[in-house]
Amino acid sequence: MKEKGRPPYYEVIRDPLLRYMVRRLRLLWALEHAANLMSWDLETHMPREGIRDRSAALEEITALMHSIATSSWLREMIEAAQERLEELNDYEKGLVRVVAREVRIATALPEELVRREAKITAEATKVWEVARKRSDFNMFKPYLEQIVEIQREKAERLGYEDHPYDALLDLYEEGLRTRHVEEIFSKLVPATKKVLDEVRRRGFYPERHMLEDKEYDVDKAREMVRRLLGLLRFPLGERGRVDESAHPFTIDMGVYDVRITVRYEGRDFKRFVYSAVHEFGHALYELQQDPRLDQTPLVGGVSLGVHESQSRFWENIVGRGPWFMPELKRLADETIGLTRGVDLLELYRYVNTVRPDVIRVDADEVTYNLHIYLRFTLEKKLIEGSLRVDELPEAWNSLMEELLGVRPRNDAEGVLQDIHWSHGSIGYFPTYTLGNVIAAMIWRSLGGPDAEMLHRLDIPGLQEWLREKIHIWGKTYPPRTLVEKALGAPPTADALVEYLEWKYTRLPDKVEELLNPQR
Ligand code: MG
Repeated sequence: MKEKGRPPYYEVIRDPLLRYMVRRLRLLWALEHAANLMSWDLETHMPREGIRDRSAALEEITALMHSIATSSWLREMIEAAQERLEELNDYEKGLVRVVAREVRIATALPEELVRREAKITAEATKVWEVARKRSDFNMFKPYLEQIVEIQREKAERLGYEDHPYDALLDLYEEGLRTRHVEEIFSKLVPATKKVLDEVRRRGFYPERHMLEDKEYDVDKAREMVRRLLGLLRFPLGERGRVDESAHPFTIDMGVYDVRITVRYEGRDFKRFVYSAVHEFGHALYELQQDPRLDQTPLVGGVSLGVHESQSRFWENIVGRGPWFMPELKRLADETIGLTRGVDLLELYRYVNTVRPDVIRVDADEVTYNLHIYLRFTLEKKLIEGSLRVDELPEAWNSLMEELLGVRPRNDAEGVLQDIHWSHGSIGYFPTYTLGNVIAAMIWRSLGGPDAEMLHRLDIPGLQEWLREKIHIWGKTYPPRTLVEKALGAPPTADALVEYLEWKYTRLPDKVEELLNPQR
């Protein structure tokens, strides 16, 4: 029975001491709520000069959050709770794990280091923008050298068992280790190359499609996105918003206010369609959590990899599947109109072009992971000290050529293409491939090539399945445990290899029958 005035989390957090801790941590929760709203505004509506005060205000909030996470009362409470873990339920254990992890990370990284990193990365990001425009790695080099040094220092302070890169991976994906990533790539890279050879030999999936050059009307595109989100049952206006920004993203202010952004470039409509579906996948994860976790440290996606699995599942497996083509054609016919007279097979081939290219963000689902493998290989070497920053551009270009058979013509197309390193994010890239890996495990759990819910394009059914297995738990279980519980095994490359082989080598033979969902 629900008692009046009791917060919803009382139903899952029963331990009096932990309830008290959650109540005291509400300030941290509220600060994050405010910081997220400020960041959303910064990317969508804020006038350009507003950045001067906004970044200063965000820095103060971050410092305040850091001081709460390192306060002695919190550490004492967590230590006390850790001594009686066996008395606690799964939610309470999760709460202790999540808060202990935050405390451990915040304590290991002194405020001086955090501020030093914030300062250098803020400068580095500005320099990177100019360096990329001029395609001049030497401009960015001294900043990257400092950033790598800071990351190595962080790794030492955070501690690790086998490899300093482990400590950085763990910041983005709790429990992920270098050896896990190596194991995934050791199977995925050769399998991908084989699939790619087959795709080229066969020619069913084209390298280019004439629809890529077609221009669309942006107002009509906005209408298409609204209808697309309606089809996906995104609660626009109730618990969701869609806005525009230079780089699409998802951000939430709790489970009742989840926002995504889209970018319209004016041509090649699959780009805005699939970035909207991608962000929708992230948003659905936030929206479908157990509302009893709201306003506690347990709310929010459990890790970047699991989060990315949700966006990639909707984008690639649902949205780029043959079953999605009738709806996509109907939406496009009724809005931007570029698909009238284009049949479902052509539409399918347009949204599934496969083209080995130098730019990661434009990569298709076959070649994408090779871009991540390249970054993983180089990052690991930088952190262990076996590669110097000044050797990076050449190492990048050679590895790119070896993996994808293409060579960047300059630094802008090569080592300078991503913003991540300028932010200090080293150890982040592997979570993208982990997302693809977990998305394919979801596909396999749904039945793989025979997945009924995909064949019928049963959107509510898929959402309910994901809610029950994954979304509802928030951060209750560590990511590897959650994946094991929900999908039967910890992340391995098998399902992704199976998916790519099926879609790119066997599906073409029966594409006609799959293009119309069997409702
Ligand atoms: Mg994403």
